[in-house]
Amino acid sequence: MRKQIVAGNWKMNNDVAQTEALIASLKAQNKTTNAEVMIAPTAVNLSQASNSVKGSTIEVVAQNMHFAESGAYTGEISAGMLKSIGVNTVILGHSERREYFNETDELLAKKVDAALANGMRVIFCFGEELADRKAGNEEAVVGSQIKNALFHLGADAFQNIVLAYEPVWAIGTGETASPEQAQDMHAFIRKTLADKYGNDVANSLSILYGGSVKPANAEEIFSKPDVDGGLIGGASLKAEDFFAIVNAF
Ligand code: PEP
Repeated sequence: MRKQIVAGNWKMNNDVAQTEALIASLKAQNKTTNAEVMIAPTAVNLSQASNSVKGSTIEVVAQNMHFAESGAYTGEISAGMLKSIGVNTVILGHSERREYFNETDELLAKKVDAALANGMRVIFCFGEELADRKAGNEEAVVGSQIKNALFHLGADAFQNIVLAYEPVWAIGTGETASPEQAQDMHAFIRKTLADKYGNDVANSLSILYGGSVKPANAEEIFSKPDVDGGLIGGASLKAEDFFAIVNAF
């Protein structure tokens, strides 16, 4: 059975006091659930957040990291540093990193390698832009993002990879892919992985959907057979909304 995962990407929101308050509300709502629950606070609050979630099943994950272990990379954070504060999972390839920080598939391949070499789990994000979908190119774009950043890996590496399909036109826009659009793309993604690595790898891989998931639409999206959970932005900033989404499974 594939892991079901709901991960909240807090982006550049919440100072330390707000982080503490939101974690306290999340812990109060955290009931037994089949899904793995993750939150990704901003880097400066990761250490404190890791301590604060203790006693709950919530995992604190990072939004980004650098590929080098250390050195002259001002402002950056390495996998080893994240591990040293108990952060074992990192989101890589978010569309905002690709758009505003010029992260390319080639760079992301290096980051994925560094995370895996440090024994971390990767939530790897990708997705097409609106123009790609309008032109009918969504599968070609998504297929090449996956191949370019991940297909140098051996099959075993996928034990530590979670995929997150996030159509750029649905992120933070209030516009969600329909459950059918999400299912069609997730099935395509799984087939792309199966063609390269075989059915066992493809069928054991969790593929999350991200893009304006809310309490009102989560249940229908998560009911689709190839959707194994969600990466949640805006709605992860309110404990009730986030757990309504977690409980949609
Ligand atoms: C995201 O940033 O990964 C995301 C899906 O954001 P939102 O839920 O706000 O669309």
